[in-house]
Amino acid sequence: MTPSRHEIGIVGGGLAGASAALAFARAGFDTVHIAAPHRHDGRSTALIGPSVRFLETLGIIRALEGRAQPMFAMRLVDDTGRLLRAAPVEFRAAEIDLPYFGLNVLNRDLLDTVTEESETIATRLVRVEEPVVSVDLDDERAVVRTESGRTISVRLLVGSDGRHSVVREAMGVPVWTWSYPQVALVLNFRHQRDHEGISTEFHTPTGPFTQVPLPGRRSSLVWVETPDEAMRLKALPVEQLSREVERRLHSILGAVEVEEPIQSFPLSGASVSRLSGRRCALVGEAAHVFPPIGAQGLNLGIRDVEALLASALENRDEPGGAAMLAAYEARRRTDVATRTAAVDLLNRSLLTGFLPVQAARALGLGALASVPVLRHALMREGVEPGSALAGIASRVRSLLPGQRASG
Ligand SMILES: Cc1cc2nc3c(=O)[nH]c(=O)nc-3n(C[C@H](O)[C@H](O)[C@H](O)COP(=O)(O)OP(=O)(O)OC[C@H]3O[C@@H](n4cnc5c(N)ncnc54)[C@H](O)[C@@H]3O)c2cc1C
Repeated sequence: MTPSRHEIGIVGGGLAGASAALAFARAGFDTVHIAAPHRHDGRSTALIGPSVRFLETLGIIRALEGRAQPMFAMRLVDDTGRLLRAAPVEFRAAEIDLPYFGLNVLNRDLLDTVTEESETIATRLVRVEEPVVSVDLDDERAVVRTESGRTISVRLLVGSDGRHSVVREAMGVPVWTWSYPQVALVLNFRHQRDHEGISTEFHTPTGPFTQVPLPGRRSSLVWVETPDEAMRLKALPVEQLSREVERRLHSILGAVEVEEPIQSFPLSGASVSRLSGRRCALVGEAAHVFPPIGAQGLNLGIRDVEALLASALENRDEPGGAAMLAAYEARRRTDVATRTAAVDLLNRSLLTGFLPVQAARALGLGALASVPVLRHALMREGVEPGSALAGIASRVRSLLPGQRASG
């Protein structure tokens, strides 16, 4: 059978793949999106800074109207019960002149919205709803074969096919994987009191317990526990689990009513030594996996998509060529490597019983509570990756004799 030919092929129908397909087609590329049906997902994503802006350019934020909850403040509470404990810290977006830190939205609502927007540009975006079973890469084109035997030839193949990516396997890039002795329970719940757009993260000895506000008197919860405890909690009758959630929240939102289903995700990490190969590039969890701390995973995936599109537009005549792929690597390598290391370190610092590490964490949070330059730098880094160092450097320069502050 003669292969169908397109400029861009996107493999994977999760949030990274769906956003990439919409973005490339909107930018005028002849795009094919090859996606096996995506599994129902009850999780939510806190979209921050650059991700919100990028999705705004695609019309997604406007279309989400009423289904995305702005996060005005974030609270960190040391609930480890350990000898060295940090005081609670609260960050307010208004402190750094932002209307909000981010928007929390259910993954299902986000994916439906991206899919609906994609249907409006069907002429440039062909959908093939079946899995890819093989990938062949050479210097000119990437050719994929789908389950039904269809072949598709493209100039740039985007691997957004998640942690077991077939595109990554065809690239032959080494993958480092690791796991944590933790499982994340994920659920949504209704509550008696208003959340006022505040997200509260309790640091416990087994991992974070994070409430993130949804529209109305409703929040999502990511609750990291040991595998045994997670299984015990998941098996509890829902009324009992609701009481347990209220107890762990120290009743800050009043009585709690947990909604089913309750999902669980064993925590793991993965990292690759390069993000591109002949005629292909990786985005989202095909390229990086880490624990759900600090709302990083999909935000990083959306920044991958934005950088890949920018690199393709700069090399409009040769998408998937060596110059375009080198530009993509250069744009993404540092961000991906630093986020992976930072999230890993933070997660391990919670797990450790080693006193000096506990002391360092307690002191670190204490400094954040009381040193404005650090607080503001951290808040900016959270919403604008890469800005904190630049901000501190500019502040230091402004304090040197003969220098003036820049912004
Ligand atoms: C508990 C939890 C909470 C999280 N909270 C946040 C948060 O608040 N903020 C944030 O930014 N991130 C968060 N994350 C991370 C975020 O959910 C992931 O980064 C994101 O969902 C990954 O999307 P993806 O599209 O890269 O991969 P996936 O969602 O895994 O999608 C991959 C898709 O590829 C398809 N596929 C696989 N193989 C093939 C094939 N051969 N052919 C065709 N299709 C294929 C699959 O069916 C799937 O649909 C969280 C993660 C967890 C576990």
